Amino acid sequence: MKFGTAYFDNIILKHFKTDMDEVKRQGCSFVVLTFSENDLMFHEDTYRQLTAQAKSQGLTTLIDPWAIAGIFGGESSTQLPMWHDDERQVRSDGKKAPALCMNAPALTAYLKRWVDVVGTFEADYILWDEPHFYLNWLDKFGGWDPNPTAWSCRCDYCQKKFKKETGKTLPKEHTEEVKEFKRRSTRDFLLALTRYAESKGQKNAMTFLPGEKAWFLKTMAQEKSIHVMGGESYFEYDQSLPKDVYQHALEHTRELKVWARKYKKPLLMWVKGFLVPEGREMDVVDAARGCVDGGGDWVAMWGFEACKHVSDKTCGNPDKVWRLMGETFRSYLKGNNNQKKVSFSKTKIRKGVAV
Ligand SMILES: [Zn+2]
Repeated sequence: MKFGTAYFDNIILKHFKTDMDEVKRQGCSFVVLTFSENDLMFHEDTYRQLTAQAKSQGLTTLIDPWAIAGIFGGESSTQLPMWHDDERQVRSDGKKAPALCMNAPALTAYLKRWVDVVGTFEADYILWDEPHFYLNWLDKFGGWDPNPTAWSCRCDYCQKKFKKETGKTLPKEHTEEVKEFKRRSTRDFLLALTRYAESKGQKNAMTFLPGEKAWFLKTMAQEKSIHVMGGESYFEYDQSLPKDVYQHALEHTRELKVWARKYKKPLLMWVKGFLVPEGREMDVVDAARGCVDGGGDWVAMWGFEACKHVSDKTCGNPDKVWRLMGETFRSYLKGNNNQKKVSFSKTKIRKGVAV
């Protein structure tokens, strides 16, 4: 059983060392470091030092292509669409999205260069995190009027690929056939990268957004160039709050565990440590328990100090979330999680909400 967290936004080594000590005190044995487009431009040697430092402090390290091209998860932005305007995603309403398309050659070429650089860090894994086509929630940052029905992508690359695969014209509606096409595109895109990285001696971990189809998960799990399978127990407090957070995490973990176990891959599960409202801090404990009990081999929380430093993503009481995360992780490592489970459950029942 391994526990971990994501760490980002600080690249000053002396502070980093102190924070990695804190990460270890929390019971973590792995850390995800984000390496964005901006970092590739300006911080290559810095990240080489940070990775070496984390490893010297005994942490397994994973490097994340943080929000690169607008298709991976993360609290960062992308510049690539400005340079590759012809390879941007095109929405169904005709707007060019601020993201490159997974079917466009420039993106794969860029990420292979990124892999080459990351290879020199000698990290333990690359974490391909939340690959997705453009999501409209970013529209507000550009001042666009929300268009909840618009979907991506209908660029020329996608239209040609769809025609080649099906013999048909890419529909204008977001049909099941289109969604399957997008999954195939995501698969092809990722496998090109994981196989390339493996050919360079690197190992790959994945984190998928919830809701992927069984064929997709099976395909990725059986792929030899993917070494760690991963998923999330996340939910939205205002839209998809589960009645039972533990059960929610347990079910999502089991869904992925089927394929991870079948192909003998460790399973990495994420716990939401951002945007947790005050009074809901015990959700982090319940989600972590669900991930562990569901068969997660690696369990991590996004991110360091419950994102206290990210004003747009922080929790109502980030100090409490971070403390509870550490208590939960350490409790499992000490093997007395059953006692903790009873104690936490009683607290929740008595109060109705976390205390
Ligand atoms: Zn496209």
